[in-house]
Amino acid sequence: MTELLYLNDHYLKAFDATVVEVPDLRSIVFDKTAVYPRGGGQPSDHATVTLDGNRFEIVESTKTPEKVIHQLSSELNEFQRSSALNSNVHVVLDWDLRYKHMRHHTALHILSGVVFHKFEAKITGGQIYAERARLDLSLSDLSKEKQALIESEMNRVVSENREVRVEWLSAEEALKRSELYRLSADLLPKGVDRLRIVDIVGFDAQLDGGTHVARTREIGRIKISKSENKGKDSKRIEILLC
Ligand SMILES: [Zn+2]
Repeated sequence: MTELLYLNDHYLKAFDATVVEVPDLRSIVFDKTAVYPRGGGQPSDHATVTLDGNRFEIVESTKTPEKVIHQLSSELNEFQRSSALNSNVHVVLDWDLRYKHMRHHTALHILSGVVFHKFEAKITGGQIYAERARLDLSLSDLSKEKQALIESEMNRVVSENREVRVEWLSAEEALKRSELYRLSADLLPKGVDRLRIVDIVGFDAQLDGGTHVARTREIGRIKISKSENKGKDSKRIEILLC
């Protein structure tokens, strides 16, 4: 079971770990990791790891219920593969990239908070990139006036510099708070006894597995760069950070 360091410390930029598995010449599993694996619309982190004196890039990571598998940009040779197993390694994240993902992720939570509180809209899809992010929302109309309102409300929350906090709830407690469930599809994790909440204190809290900034002012100004009609009850909003 990989210990997921990024769940409780979003600002961990480097860490020491033990290699517990080398499934093939291009992938590696640590006992613990701060390297975020693609999920919930947030892309994988990039990182570097030194194995037997050689630097390898981690370019993509995926999560199974038990572990996080990190993909390397180049192959290990058989000797490196066997000497890597059980060795202690130092891993350094590409912090510029991760921090951009964090700023965009929190910005999307502000967007979904605004449209949920103002228009009861839920999320039907979304994606974070380094330079932009988008959400698909169950909105029947999205006029210019509505967009202007959404943009100004988002920037109000940014300027309030609200704290962003991680909390854990039992599944039983979480079920009593339906407002925490923001996905329109039933994507409730089954058989999990603790659920993770990302709380923009005093504004909006949602179930979430991603990484976020500590204070909303770190996001910078949010601009709606594009909107698209994705059907009768679905609108796409794309944002940029300035
Ligand atoms: Zn999220």
